[in-house]
Amino acid sequence: MNALSQTTEAGFEPASRIATVGVSKILQIGARAAAMKRDGLPVIILGAGEPDFDTPDNVKAAAKAAIDRGDTKYTALDGTPDLKAAVVAKFRRENNVDYATDEVTVATGAKQILFNAFMATLNAGDEVIIPTPYWTSYSDIVEICGGVSKLIACPAESGFRLQAEQLEAAITPKTRWVLLNSPSNPSGAAYSAADYQPLIDVLLRHPHVWLMVDDMYEHIVYDGFEFVTPVAIEPRLKSRTLTVNGVSKAYAMTGWRIGYAGGPKALIKAMAVIQSQATSCPSSISQAAAVEALNGPQDFLKERQQSFKARRDLVVARLNAISGIDCRTPEGAFYTFAGCEGLIGKTTPAGKTIATDADFTDYLLETVHVAVVPGSAFGLSPYFRISYATSEAELKEALDRIAAACEKLS
Ligand code: PMP
Repeated sequence: MNALSQTTEAGFEPASRIATVGVSKILQIGARAAAMKRDGLPVIILGAGEPDFDTPDNVKAAAKAAIDRGDTKYTALDGTPDLKAAVVAKFRRENNVDYATDEVTVATGAKQILFNAFMATLNAGDEVIIPTPYWTSYSDIVEICGGVSKLIACPAESGFRLQAEQLEAAITPKTRWVLLNSPSNPSGAAYSAADYQPLIDVLLRHPHVWLMVDDMYEHIVYDGFEFVTPVAIEPRLKSRTLTVNGVSKAYAMTGWRIGYAGGPKALIKAMAVIQSQATSCPSSISQAAAVEALNGPQDFLKERQQSFKARRDLVVARLNAISGIDCRTPEGAFYTFAGCEGLIGKTTPAGKTIATDADFTDYLLETVHVAVVPGSAFGLSPYFRISYATSEAELKEALDRIAAACEKLS
């Protein structure tokens, strides 16, 4: 969908590079739900991609201290020495990967990391392999940067994970990157070392293909799942892998806008060129806060994991109890991506046919005022995503309403 066509005013012509890029469907649904709420409707929004916890107090204190100390000026272009040191230590401590200081970079969110990397590497027509369901910004950023997204369907039956044969078949001489996200937004699926190995074997046979891994949700995993990042499994990939991460989800710091990455020096340098002309540097205060997040106490992560796990179990069990809905148990993140194939073709009490997952999510929003996001927004149908980063009480109420709405379909 081209959202610009809805907002373009007479006389304004957007650049062709954004012609196919729309305002995120997730944001559109969020805005519609928020407007309904303002009108007094009892809307429950299960669309947001951010933890409902607050930023830890020690992190807030570090930011306040940075302001009082006068850390309020431009910083080094792609990260203060303190934050780069904290990132290097983090990769060593948690991922068993050794990056040197000039092999790490810091940006205004992981989103800007992705943008810097694609801007710095894609020429017109270069291909990026992206398994679906995928975080929608991936393909939009690739397209803004002149690349071509090659979307590969990875349904629930394959655990929402890219298979080696699919990767092999998708690679062409124009492939520049393959982009993997574990645990995944929106599916919550994660790759174990055994899941990664066949993909790594394919990549070793195709040295022109680089690997971008988005490890943003690494700290939100369940049932003893062992998070691993590809470079730790296969050091030979290190010279062509960008390992992306950030503080947004693990430390409940979405508004602070700090992301980081480790990768080969030449790529990191090229990314800094883009950043230098886009933002000059990430916020000095947020960087000081991120140092404390990475170096400070980590034990609260386990507690938050427990709390997310209880909500995941609740949502998965309640969804699977609804006839027509099928929900795989995710390994991580705070999303479920449930199939709704069994509801397609049914009729609402108002006589409307549910032909697509978006018809189903519209029906939920309009009749029981629960906002969830259709699979089509993530490139795979018929599914819908629930973000369970909200209170158990609210989740229970939302699931009661979803169940009641599904009962009424015939
Ligand atoms: N990667 C994934 C998979 C995400 O879900 C998000 C946020 N929704 C990001 C990256 C971006 O995170 P940020 O820019 O806040 O660091």
